[in-house]
Amino acid sequence: MGVSGGAGTVGFIGLGTMGREMVLNLLKAGHAVRVSDLRREAMDELVAHGATAADGPAEAAAGADIAITMLPDTPDVEAVVYAAGGLLANPPRGRLVVDMSTISPVAVRRIHADFAARDVAFLDAPVSGGPVGAKNGTLSIMVGGDPEGFARAHPFFGAMGTTITHVGGPGAGQTVKLCNQLVCGINIQAICEAIALGRASGVDLEQLRKVLLGGSAASWMLDRLGPAMIAGDASAGFRIDLMFKDLRLVQEHAQALSVPLPGTALVTSQYVEARAHGEGANGNQALFRVYDRMTNQRPS
Ligand code: NAD
Repeated sequence: MGVSGGAGTVGFIGLGTMGREMVLNLLKAGHAVRVSDLRREAMDELVAHGATAADGPAEAAAGADIAITMLPDTPDVEAVVYAAGGLLANPPRGRLVVDMSTISPVAVRRIHADFAARDVAFLDAPVSGGPVGAKNGTLSIMVGGDPEGFARAHPFFGAMGTTITHVGGPGAGQTVKLCNQLVCGINIQAICEAIALGRASGVDLEQLRKVLLGGSAASWMLDRLGPAMIAGDASAGFRIDLMFKDLRLVQEHAQALSVPLPGTALVTSQYVEARAHGEGANGNQALFRVYDRMTNQRPS
């Protein structure tokens, strides 16, 4: 498949919360998808929807126009790229590899250079929009890498997202995503503080949320995560562990560039506290439990 937009073949590695939904949308758009994951059950479920199971990254990429990875963290992507059965030694036929995970921009630039030396285009294309955006095919996709690779990947991105932006060279997509996460993290903290203060003052919290949504304090986080925070629902959504990972990547990147980010440092320490209380697998909004503990509210 080229930029003209016919159906193509995708090798897709990483079938978790996000990857599963993205594969379903690629299938719906008419692409053939060869799936691979460490968890057999994740592959079986997608095979039932028309995907083909592959035994590892090399088999997923074999004969594909594009290989896409959607994995938790930098070492996972490096394993899938650099292992003997990995994508560097076994690139797809279309010589195009796209990582859509959130990982280190420094690692991305190295991976890009290693693929370029083998005449394979590599793009970093992290996403925003969460599991709902992945399910609805409305992700925001921020892409770093060569324009030619971006043009070839665009029809595949179009099956998974609606805001698809080429933001610069190798690593630029990850940099923009880390800026996104920094804003999300500090925004969640601000909402927790407003709810803690509102609760202690005895105001109606749902009304507080509605009023804030109607003014200059409105935000995606307040809209989507506010209800769960008010209800004390820590369960669903983007995991505390993943947000902590993203804030760690923000800090590493900022320190390498000598950019002070005091707000990010503060909210990161609250994610450390949440993880120390066993909240790593809870949703991101569970940061409110830190404030519960600080204000001696709801038992944790
Ligand atoms: P997840 O943990 O739900 O899924 C990751 C999948 O990768 C799992 O199925 C796991 O078995 C598989 N995996 C891990 N190592 C592997 C390997 N070496 N080979 C093959 N499979 C392997 O994670 P997720 O929530 O889907 O997130 C994926 C990425 O997207 C992360 O970088 C995350 O930060 C980012 N992201 C997540 C969200 C979200 O709301 N969940 C939103 C935006 C971005």
